[in-house]
Amino acid sequence: MILIVFDFDHTVVDGNTDVKILDVLGDKKDSIKYESSTGWTEHMRQIFVQCEKQGVTPADMISVLKELALTKGMRILFQTIRDSKDKIKVVIASDSNSWFIDVLLSHFEIKDIVDEVHTNPAEWNSNLLLLKRYTTNENCTRCPINMCKSEIVSNSATDDISAIIYVGDGSNDLCPVINLREKDIACPREGYSLSKKLDKVKVKCSVVKWSDAARIVDYLNKCLNIS
Ligand SMILES: [Mg+2]
Ligand SMILES: [Zn+2]
Repeated sequence: MILIVFDFDHTVVDGNTDVKILDVLGDKKDSIKYESSTGWTEHMRQIFVQCEKQGVTPADMISVLKELALTKGMRILFQTIRDSKDKIKVVIASDSNSWFIDVLLSHFEIKDIVDEVHTNPAEWNSNLLLLKRYTTNENCTRCPINMCKSEIVSNSATDDISAIIYVGDGSNDLCPVINLREKDIACPREGYSLSKKLDKVKVKCSVVKWSDAARIVDYLNKCLNIS
């Protein structure tokens, strides 16, 4: 089995769900300032409280989220995965939230190929989207307080996994890539922070940069042929 781990924002979708959702607030979207001391999850909680106050409904959020598109080449990559799904385990590791991701996986009709989604849990209580932290990370100093993606990868990499492909773009994707082994492949999105950081950090795995995710298909096929 091959394990393929996807970050979500700017990786699966060409944009950031937490930024895109602000469109539901219209001209009031600048009223909440980000306080780095309390962290991103708390910031998003405040935004969802604001959304409830403004009378935003789940349907309003769904229509804004659906304006996001799949990143270039992702459709082809997902089709390749679907064609060999019995040999590939698919995991999403994201600092967005479970409801946004569920909405978009359904919208793009790719929910059937995703085995696990690891993200901050969110659920509706009337018209308030209640958000919780995924975990409390106390061990890893490289990662934010709520999530170390290395933990997600190591928990997903069961004994039957022969190689790991990690696809991501952001700073919080660096930790899991640093922990990949020689036979694994990191696929950072060209021009984004993970890619820039990997220019300066030495890692054991192969690095395949992409602007079009169709480039990852060849490497996935190579892994499938060896496994
Ligand atoms: Mg990302
Ligand atoms: Zn970490």
